[in-house]
Amino acid sequence: MPTGAATAICRKHLFELPAGVIYLDGNSLGPLPKSVRARLDAMVVDEWGERLIRGWNDAGWMAQPARVGDRIARLIGAPAGSVVVGDTLSIKVYQALAAALELRPARRVVLSDSGNFPTDLYMAEGLLATLARGHRLRVVAPDAVADSIDESIAAVMLTEVDYRSGRRHDLAAISARAQAAGAVMIWDLAHSAGAFPVDVAATHCEYAVGCTYKYLNGGPGAPAFIYVRPDLIEATRPALAGWMGHAEPFAFEASYRPAADIERLRVGTPPVIQMTVLEEALKLWDDIDLAALRVESLRLGERFIEAVEASCPALRLASPRPAAQRGSQVSFAFEHGYAAMQALIARGVIGDFRAPDIMRFGIAPLYLDAQDIDAAVEILREVLENESWRDPACQARKSVT
Ligand SMILES: *Cc1c(COP(=O)(O)O)cnc(C)c1O
Repeated sequence: MPTGAATAICRKHLFELPAGVIYLDGNSLGPLPKSVRARLDAMVVDEWGERLIRGWNDAGWMAQPARVGDRIARLIGAPAGSVVVGDTLSIKVYQALAAALELRPARRVVLSDSGNFPTDLYMAEGLLATLARGHRLRVVAPDAVADSIDESIAAVMLTEVDYRSGRRHDLAAISARAQAAGAVMIWDLAHSAGAFPVDVAATHCEYAVGCTYKYLNGGPGAPAFIYVRPDLIEATRPALAGWMGHAEPFAFEASYRPAADIERLRVGTPPVIQMTVLEEALKLWDDIDLAALRVESLRLGERFIEAVEASCPALRLASPRPAAQRGSQVSFAFEHGYAAMQALIARGVIGDFRAPDIMRFGIAPLYLDAQDIDAAVEILREVLENESWRDPACQARKSVT
């Protein structure tokens, strides 16, 4: 390890990383924490296999969504009892926006930006069409968001970190603008939770959502989370009024009555196996100092940018240059980015690609160190210098890029 900071943060030994792989895609799917294997085995054999239906009570499955929510709450600066886990992020976006619009019944505009992830915008479009009350989704450029917030806006719905460029919004400043205009603020923390310190309580935002398979290493398809500002839980009417969010699911009442607490944002039966994997993966964060993680993430990111710019002149930095304006990923634009990324992956350096020309590299200091960064850049340099991306095998588009 090159520095003390790296020694303090890097926990490579806690992850299953294939030999010969430098993993720069933890912003899309985090790697497998080693302890998950035994926990999963115990879950399947002892809990599902042995306890069967009794597991809902005896193994704590029913309480899991709120219990795991409390673990996530600690990572995003939320109080206990304000976060619950379940469903997918797309669904949590829908829940948050539906609730937000009910809080501002006289307003008709949802403000978002062109840096938002498409599913967030799609879910908003779908919801507004279903409501059929004349709501409009207004999508502006990321740097025009703050000045577009006025008293016509019912809800401001943004993702803090742009999935393509890694550009990071000023969470506190935009939240304050929204609050001053009386708009409900919804933050999507998909690329924030586990990437750097977040303090949702300090922003005073009404809702926040995020996923757990990226920096939180919950595994493919891991459930999402939703935060509701504690004073608004009672006023938050669940649009998806599923039985698991009912005050008494096992009273089997004829009509819906929401739970008094954050459990009202649950919908249906939780994915217990996946939830168990996530709960185990989250234990890793118990002794992580997120501020130190951020320092190390930026240090590695700067090192990566400097080395790529020095040795790969064909690539153009697509992320903001000031470190404070970036999340925990670095993006470069390159005309043949898709094929170049395929060539990199074939050589064990795994990042990903976002159309039209963005090569994305996630910097996760829990399992990456300076040597990995240097080795990855050296392989990238070779790929570009030898034009390895011209290989036809690198050109064929796969369904997931
Ligand atoms: C990754 C991501 C999603 C993914 O949504 P799913 O429903 O989990 O597929 C949604 N929004 C943002 C901002 C993301 O980064």
